Amino acid sequence: MNAKNNLEGKILSGERIGRDDALALFSFDLPRLGLLADERRKKAHPSNEVGFIVDRIVNFTNVCTAACAFCAYHARAGSIEPYRMTIDEVLVKVDELAAAGGTQVMLQGGLDPQFGLEECSAMLRAIKERYPSIYLHSFSPAETVHLARRHGISISEVVAMLKEAGLDSMPGASDMLVDRVRRRVSPNKITKDEWVEVMRTLAAAGLKSSATMTYGLGETLEERVEHLEVVRGVQDETGILRAFIPWSFSPARTLMADMEPATGIDYLRLVAVARIYLDNIRFIQAGWLTEGHALAQIALSMGANDMGGVLTEEVVVKATGVETTADREGMIRVISAAGRVPVERDSDYRTIRSYG
Ligand code: SF4
Repeated sequence: MNAKNNLEGKILSGERIGRDDALALFSFDLPRLGLLADERRKKAHPSNEVGFIVDRIVNFTNVCTAACAFCAYHARAGSIEPYRMTIDEVLVKVDELAAAGGTQVMLQGGLDPQFGLEECSAMLRAIKERYPSIYLHSFSPAETVHLARRHGISISEVVAMLKEAGLDSMPGASDMLVDRVRRRVSPNKITKDEWVEVMRTLAAAGLKSSATMTYGLGETLEERVEHLEVVRGVQDETGILRAFIPWSFSPARTLMADMEPATGIDYLRLVAVARIYLDNIRFIQAGWLTEGHALAQIALSMGANDMGGVLTEEVVVKATGVETTADREGMIRVISAAGRVPVERDSDYRTIRSYG
């Protein structure tokens, strides 16, 4: 048996693959890779259902001291005016989400010196007071470390205070978990080890998270696999990662605008390799927001099994000029047309309503 057949045998039998195997998969024939990933998806998630959640991202400030080169969103990038929302402005957005039957709010800001623990906790409390059942999947590892530094306290104290104020879970916002890349594109943001530390702290506090990946930042294929390795290791250790969400980097309007954007083929390969390599993460999200509906539909047959949030008021990706939108009905159509059963879910991936 040659090495390729051997690797296929491993994948089809559900065996864990290694780093070199993952690297080898990037040069597989794409349809074959997609089939293998779909087999692994069926093992992890045998049902034909594809979930989505009705949620809202509230970007409460775009002032950020990190000034990452890959970010078109922060005010210093110059593409949008600086702003800061008041709690009342945040609540108006949550009111609209509640009126649409949404269940989850993602509060996301930058590393803004004017938003300390007091302000962040007040936002969480105000939302929970008005809507006790709204789930707060909010802030990020970078904001957590920023708050710890700003107040001179530990990461676990920050997490405990946010949890006490109403935080239910925290998105992983992982970018690229390779320090060589981080030093180049986001030197003022947290390191890979600090990201891992936040994950361990969330686990100790009983909070769940997710892992993302922003790729196309000039990293090598080996570094993409390195990122996946960090994610798999954290999940082995903590079990808190509910989903993996890859995003392609959109260079337009960033300080890296001269870079070639990743292609749709790059995206599909990454989704498929992630599904096979991350054998301990049940949900792989199809990134319709950055990749568009058509590519997200194809991703659903190559390892992805969730569509993430709809009704999203999103400004971070929009700042790069990419504008794909979806509402509940639109998402049901997109998933059904891909031959799958749309399911509206909650933040814990439990079915609220099936549209099959
Ligand atoms: S990616 Fe996040 S931390 Fe970096 S500049 Fe943008 S908002 Fe700030």
